Amino acid sequence: LSDRDGKIWMDGQMVDWRDAKIHVLTHTLHYGCGAFEGVRAYETADGTAIFRLQEHTQRLFNSAKILRMPMPFSQEEINEAQRAVVRENNLQSCYLRPLVWIGSEKLGVSPKGNRIHVMVAAWAWGAYLGEEGMKRGIRVKTSSYTRHHVNITMTQAKTVSNYTNSILANMEALDDGYDEALLLDASGFVSEGAGENIFVVKDGRIYTPDLSAGALNGITRNTVLHIAQDLGLELVQKRITRDEVYIADEAFFTGTAAEVTPIRELDRIQIGSGSRGPITEKVQSAFFDIVGGRNPKYAQWLTKV
Ligand code: PMP
Repeated sequence: LSDRDGKIWMDGQMVDWRDAKIHVLTHTLHYGCGAFEGVRAYETADGTAIFRLQEHTQRLFNSAKILRMPMPFSQEEINEAQRAVVRENNLQSCYLRPLVWIGSEKLGVSPKGNRIHVMVAAWAWGAYLGEEGMKRGIRVKTSSYTRHHVNITMTQAKTVSNYTNSILANMEALDDGYDEALLLDASGFVSEGAGENIFVVKDGRIYTPDLSAGALNGITRNTVLHIAQDLGLELVQKRITRDEVYIADEAFFTGTAAEVTPIRELDRIQIGSGSRGPITEKVQSAFFDIVGGRNPKYAQWLTKV
């Protein structure tokens, strides 16, 4: 990914892709205190547009606030940087990665005295869990790793260090022949996927864990709350047990990268019919209409680049 043509926005300037480098003594590289976002831009009839740009930038600033990192740019500047990166790289649809990190002036746990840096990169990225998974559903394993407790690492911040837990869970799941991991919270209730929120469907109602289970307040999750309301489906946020997932009629993951991905199996137990369920399909299709600019009700969620 580092050896290609293009531009990356770094601390207020567009730099050549191959020159977007940092020093090995970068504080965040050693201690893991940093925050990032995952954002997508989609092709619409009106041109390329970034989906829920303001909400992603707001979450990035919230993450930095939680980590006590003063942001050296305004939200408007970071919004502009994201639009510019998509334009500069001539991308029709893409994934965007803003990152905030602590510089290399000094080491030691205390980051004081270090500069805070921001970068935004963008590149083309198709279905995160595979095209096939989008249609047929993916196979998921309940992780042997527990999701972060709400008072250990901060779970409403999208922090760099939170992802060690995600990486461990994802690697374990892949090594065991699954597509993705499902993590439980410290009390054993369903929290979220390694990089996705989870929803289950039972008797026509949709359920998702409430945020006290340590799940990230996903922007796609929030989009699905709107979609459910539009479809006249009741959506309940509550504690969910892993066996409620086993006996659900349908289940799906949501995320900026994962979009809306059906889950067909958990721990080798088939969920419902073992393929994409009808409600999942409706939610998925409504989601792609919104991000693709085909639902005027949500036009304000799309920022043209
Ligand atoms: N949970 C985790 C752990 C994630 O990494 C993500 C992806 N950002 C999500 C949930 C979904 O969040 P969003 O829909 O905002 O991308």
